[in-house]
Amino acid sequence: MKTILIFCTSCVLFIAACTTNAVTGRKQLSLISEDVLQQEAVSQYQSFLSQNKIISASVSKDAEMVRRVGTRIAAAITQYYKQKGLSKELEGYKWEFNLVDNKEINAWCMPGGKVVVYTGLLPVAQNEAALAIVMGHEITHAVAHHGQERISQAMLAQGLQLGGNIFTSGNSTANNIFNNIYGPAASIGVLLPNSRNQEYEADHFGLIFAAMSGYNPREAIPFWTRMANASQGNKPPEFLSSHPTDEKRIQKLQSYMNEALKYYKPVSK
Ligand SMILES: [Zn+2]
Repeated sequence: MKTILIFCTSCVLFIAACTTNAVTGRKQLSLISEDVLQQEAVSQYQSFLSQNKIISASVSKDAEMVRRVGTRIAAAITQYYKQKGLSKELEGYKWEFNLVDNKEINAWCMPGGKVVVYTGLLPVAQNEAALAIVMGHEITHAVAHHGQERISQAMLAQGLQLGGNIFTSGNSTANNIFNNIYGPAASIGVLLPNSRNQEYEADHFGLIFAAMSGYNPREAIPFWTRMANASQGNKPPEFLSSHPTDEKRIQKLQSYMNEALKYYKPVSK
């Protein structure tokens, strides 16, 4: 009887902590508020920018391109959410797009729209449309609350007590979880891999957002194929340990293509 009672209580707790994602319709564990995550992201982003070499968009065509692509994708997402009556989901978003001088093949977006692209990604992207594909993918991870879900799962697994702002309360486990899930700490920790579900969602909606921004979604197939090839060297990029690319993924991307193409309006040069 006691066991049943405990089991039921945990179920109620679990259900209460689950939210249905407004865009994907999938149930997600959310033990931590978006607001708290965004505050933590702002502080981690600032500290990342201060410790890395940021390339100014006023002197670099590449940095200017990163900003242009990001701004277009943000506008497309804002429009998409507005049309679906979901503008509230983007509350607190203050977009920033930066290119950092770093040979790693990497890019990420933190909650609240804090985006970084590493110069090492550009030779694999090769063109602006492919950059839009990968930025659309990373930004989708943020707007679809994937980080929130992974942090919640990790916190549950670690048995962390929640409440208030756990990141500013000096809880080192909470801070480690955040750092292990977001890019900046990739060099000091092991990234927790995204789940397959999250990867497919990021591919699916990332394609739509890139297409809405005027970039050809078909570029996704050659781009992810180049990424897969880049992983065959001696030292595969860390990015690929959290974004595994294989035949199944390419097939999935192909299955999203017709839908994405409906949103595609090429930008006139
Ligand atoms: Zn991903």
